[in-house]
Amino acid sequence: MSTVVEKKGYFGEFGGSFVPDELQHVLNILDENFQRYKDDEDFNKELNYYFHEYVGRKTPLYFAENLTKQLGGAKIYLKREDLNHTGSHKINNVLGQILLAKRMGANRVIAETGAGQHGVATATACAMFGMDCTIYMGLEDTKRQALNVFRMELLGAKVVAVDKGQGRLKDAVDEAFADLVENYETTFYLLGSAVGPHPFPSMVKHFQSVISRESREQILEKEGKLPTAVLACVGGGSNAIGAFAEYIDDENVRLIGIEPDQAATLNEGTPGELHGFKCLVLQDAEGNPLPTYSIAAGLDYPGAGPEHSHLKTIGRAEYITVTNEEVLEAFQILSKVEGIIPALESSHAVAHTLKLAPTLATDEIIIINISGRGDKDVEQVFHMLNK
Ligand SMILES: *Cc1c(COP(=O)(O)O)cnc(C)c1O
Repeated sequence: MSTVVEKKGYFGEFGGSFVPDELQHVLNILDENFQRYKDDEDFNKELNYYFHEYVGRKTPLYFAENLTKQLGGAKIYLKREDLNHTGSHKINNVLGQILLAKRMGANRVIAETGAGQHGVATATACAMFGMDCTIYMGLEDTKRQALNVFRMELLGAKVVAVDKGQGRLKDAVDEAFADLVENYETTFYLLGSAVGPHPFPSMVKHFQSVISRESREQILEKEGKLPTAVLACVGGGSNAIGAFAEYIDDENVRLIGIEPDQAATLNEGTPGELHGFKCLVLQDAEGNPLPTYSIAAGLDYPGAGPEHSHLKTIGRAEYITVTNEEVLEAFQILSKVEGIIPALESSHAVAHTLKLAPTLATDEIIIINISGRGDKDVEQVFHMLNK
């Protein structure tokens, strides 16, 4: 059975590519190359080499015994993407795309970044591969994330502060696409989440699927059966689609995505167009994206990947919201009980687990995708708890 039919970049009614002709031309070239290399033996050998030697994969599937005992229900396992080099799942996609960029003969990489996490991962890989790197970042974001700007510069990247529009992520994406159209013969646009026009959502899913390829094998080895549920936070949707991918055809495995209640795209969004593709969007009557808010910068996005929009619509995956207070609580509980400080983004998935696990039987299993480590968030949480 295949619940998700991937046809010309469509997931049900979502996805596709709604961009000007010049950009479509460039995306077609990208798609041809992605199709050519995704199953290429040498390409995958090289990617696995860097996953292993540079990122530190495979990441553990850790039995959270203390948390399990405390909650008194399902056995809880943590997929430790926080242990990757650079501290999150983002590097998986970055390495995949950068190897593709090399195959395509590009020597210059560009990327967008909001809070700076994708920018830092991209700058890291560019440093290692000796690629010229330019990161587009909204002017407002460069002010709020000055340390990440410095981090990217330290890694050799050029950070361009985008002054247009509201000086936010959306404006950075627009500038990156404009740069790509102008310079596509030498330049590769390395997009950071499972969003955007085709082939980006399929490509990002492909490279992030390593998460569930590993976790499925690991859980079968440890427990001899599949989990009752896999949980992951959803911003654009890349860590979640990577954590879900290999279980989509296992109808008995519940797939649960968790959103901030003030950026609840999949819960409250309606079909619309954003950044050149169709998805569920938080929008006003004129189709303008609504403002969102989350204490986790990585989840502060008014759209979500087209495949999540589809999985939600057909009922294959569930999407649930948690509040900022619940997230802060979960952040502290996992730190205290397991000695693992999760990213505020990942803490969304932990927060829902605190409610779900006690309702399940002790022979059931939950896997939480810990998408990143919380070191980056410690200062912010310090201020929130002390005010
Ligand atoms: C960027 C980020 C996210 C959100 O992005 P997705 O594409 O939805 O995965 C989640 N967790 C961490 C740690 C991140 O850095």
